[in-house]
Formats: sequence, structure tokens, C-alpha cells
Amino acid sequence: IQKMSNFAEKKRQPHAVLTPYPLQGHINPMLKFAKLLHLRGFHITFVITEYNHKRLLKSRGPKAFDGFTDFSFETIPDGLTQMEGDGDGDDVKQDLTSLRESVRKNFIYPFRELLAKLHKSAQSGLIPRVTCLVSDSFMSFTIQVAEELELPIALLIPYSACTFMSILQFRRLIERGLIPLKDESYLTNDLDTKIDWIPGLRNFRLKDLPDFIRTTDPNSSVLEFIIEMVDRFYRASAIVFNTSYELESSVMNALHSMFPSLYTIGPFTSFLNQTPQNQLASLETNLWKEDTKCLEWLESKEPGSVVYVNFGSITIMSSEKLLEFFWGLVNSKKPFLWIIRSDLVIGGSMDFLSEFMNEISDRGLIVGWCPQEKVLNHPSIGGFLTHCGWNSTIESICAGVPMLCWPFFADQPTNCRYICNELEIGIEIDTNVKREGVQKLINELMVGEKGKKMKQKAMELKKKTEEDTKPDGCSYINLDKVIKEVLLKQN
Ligand code: UDP
Repeated sequence: IQKMSNFAEKKRQPHAVLTPYPLQGHINPMLKFAKLLHLRGFHITFVITEYNHKRLLKSRGPKAFDGFTDFSFETIPDGLTQMEGDGDGDDVKQDLTSLRESVRKNFIYPFRELLAKLHKSAQSGLIPRVTCLVSDSFMSFTIQVAEELELPIALLIPYSACTFMSILQFRRLIERGLIPLKDESYLTNDLDTKIDWIPGLRNFRLKDLPDFIRTTDPNSSVLEFIIEMVDRFYRASAIVFNTSYELESSVMNALHSMFPSLYTIGPFTSFLNQTPQNQLASLETNLWKEDTKCLEWLESKEPGSVVYVNFGSITIMSSEKLLEFFWGLVNSKKPFLWIIRSDLVIGGSMDFLSEFMNEISDRGLIVGWCPQEKVLNHPSIGGFLTHCGWNSTIESICAGVPMLCWPFFADQPTNCRYICNELEIGIEIDTNVKREGVQKLINELMVGEKGKKMKQKAMELKKKTEEDTKPDGCSYINLDKVIKEVLLKQN
């Protein structure tokens, strides 16, 4: 009888299949969303590429993903040719163009096969039947699959609402003759043209839009990818944002008149911090092996004294630029924790730094990858020198830490503009970074008047996001709504 009732229960349990885009900054927020759904009783299938699965096993240990109830990983091939050293620590596949094109052309076939396999398992009573899909917006082919199977699908936007609004405008930018850019010289130009006609975005310039605009090719594959993706947005059952209404209210107000089914549920970080956790609490998806000794090192530092430096999972830079940052940090005389990924420096090796390391002694620590949220929430951290990836931005806000911004590409210029001009919790560093500039701005951030104001604002935002994600908060209510109105529709 027990067996039969378990079977009946399994049959009724909602089952969401989640597909993040195969990059770190997309996998992390999707996992957080998975945790939130799991806490609300969903069975979760989390789909990652074989390549990333290998890397996860390597960085977290071979048993790290075993034994979770109602949560399983499934893999699909990424369609890229195997390379020597696959999954061996460094991300040898950071060829973003090939990955993007492979997602567009290859992923739909193994994904359909996977859903057929899950369907069979459900028929045998091993798992609940799939009742909804949750997909990264960059995996927009999943919308077609959802339509074929008549399943509701929520698109997760792991970037800001400002970026979402910006990419909705790409067709208009083309029609207005603003993109593709007229010739090569524009690629490195400042692009100061004012863009004051995008609803909800104040004081934006062409250069503040996601840098996919920086092409002179009318047949650019990235423009094609975005236009195709945007057209599909309108076919999704719901669009879910890892932001809060409070954080981006003016752009969200504008978006609500364009889409009927939008839900701001973030910041997921803040949501999870305030939710009693279950067995998935220990589940993490870092593709690089974390160094935790930096947390001990932070213990030895004064409250609010350390500059945390991290440029995320994709940014790369020349050794010259790295040295400018290095000397700026050293000369600022502030303690710093700097995360230098093994593949951060163009050309690979950062051995050249070792000859300067005695300049740092105990004042600086450099490690390869860290548990970023734990670091940001450590009381010793006073400021964050960041590339402005949306996850880093929102994690910094949730920790109440002000930022120095050095955007590199993609949505980072858009986030930077918003952080510095609208939220007023950041200062931008010149793209052409110089040590004197770094030194000056670090001092401004850590001990200057502007830094103090930014810290105060960051703390206010932290509080607001906590309110939003508490029971009765806007994001909390929206999570319940999207589950009831969209994801449980099939049940
Ligand atoms: N991250 C981390 N440790 C590191 C570097 C990054 O845990 O040393 C995490 C970070 O917390 C964030 C993600 O990796 O969740 C990076 O995403 P983001 O959007 O900030 O930047 P991207 O890597 O996509 O450029």
C-alpha cells in the first residue's frame, strides 16, 4: 500500500526541467531558481552539458552530486569538438561564438531525446511526468520544444531588466541605422550618441547598451541570435527575472505594458538567504575549484578594510592591464583579495606576477577562484572591484558592498551605467586602465566621501531586497504567482 501511495504521490508531483545556458554566470542563477522550486515541492531535472558536468565532478568531487531526493542532473552534448584537456580545470571552451552557434543549431535534438527519455521513466513510475520547462532566455530553442509538447515554459532572465529592455530594442537600433556600426573605427569609439527613446532607461548612451552592438557586419551572427531570441520571448508562457521590482522599477513598469506575464523574483541570493534550506543547501555549481583559505585570511583583517577584486568567469585581459590593476592595488595601500582565474590573462601565464609578489606580503592575497558570496558577505570586505556581471552586481547589492566598475563586454556596460548613475553605488574605471586611476578610485571607494555615501546606499538597497524576498515581499509573492499561474498549469 505504501508503495502504491508513493507511486500516486509521484504521479501528482510537479516536475520542472531546467536548462541553463552552459556558462557559469547562467548556471548559478538557474541553480538558485531550481532550489526555490525544489523547496516548494517540485521534482527537478537540471540539464547541463557533458563538458560542464565533467568540470563539476572535477571541481566538486565525484560524489558531490549524488543522493539528492527529487533532484537530478541530466547531460546533453554541447556539439563542440572535443579538445585536449577537456574538463581539466581551465575552461578550454570559452569560445563564446562557437558555443552560441552550437546552442542554436545542435542542442534541440538531444534535448528532445532527453525529454522522450524522461517521459519513458515517468511512464514506468520512476519519476513524476514532466509538467513544465524553465529555460535560460539564451536557450530559446526550448520554446519550440515546449510548444511541441504543449508544456508551459518560463524563461529565466539571468541578466538585468535594463539589459532585457535594451536587447528588445535591437531591431529599432537597426532600423534607425545605429547598428551595425558604420565602419571599423566606430568599434573602439566612445559611442556617445544619446539613446533617450528606450522606455524606462534614463541617460543612456549607445556605448551603455550591451556590447553586441559593436559590429560592422550586417549579417553578424550575434545580431541574428538576439533578434531570433527576442522574437521568441513573446511565445514564452512567463518571463522570470533575477531582479526585484524595487531595484529596476522604472524599466519594469515599461516592460509590464509590453509583456503580459513578467515576474520579478530576485534577488535569488537574498531569497535563499532568508529561506530555511533543505538538503540542496550544499549543492553548488562552481566550474572552477574553490579556494577557501581566503576566508581564513579575511578573518585576520579589519572590518570593512579589504578590497575584493574579481572579474568573473569570462573576462580576459592583457598582462599589461593586469599589472596596471596590480600596481594600483599595491599603491593604494589597502588590503586586497584578488581572484585571478587560471585563464584570466591573455596568453595564459601569470608567472610574471610572482617577481612582484614580495610587494604584497600579507596585505594582498591572490587565489584562483573563491566562494564569492561568502567573501562578499565577510565583514572584512569594504568594496568590490568588479566587471559588473549581473550575478556579481546583485550579489554585491545583497551584501551591501559598493563597487568599482570595470565592465568588459556583453551586458556589463549596461549594468555599469545603471550601478553608477541610477543606483549610485559604484564608480567606473576607465576602460584604458592606469595604475594611478585605480589607486585614486580605490581610495575614494574605501575611505573617500563618495565611498561612504555609496556604502550607505548599498546598505539601503540590501535592506530593500531583503524586504522584497521576505514573505509578503514583492518577489516572494511573484514566485508563488508564477508557480500557480504558469508552472502548475499542467497539474
Ligand atoms: N563566482 C564565484 N567565484 C569566483 C568568481 C565568480 O563564485 O571566484 C561566481 C559569482 O558569484 C557569480 C558567477 O560566478 O555567481 C559569475 O557571474 P557574473 O554574472 O558575475 O559574471 P560572468 O562570469 O557571467 O561574467
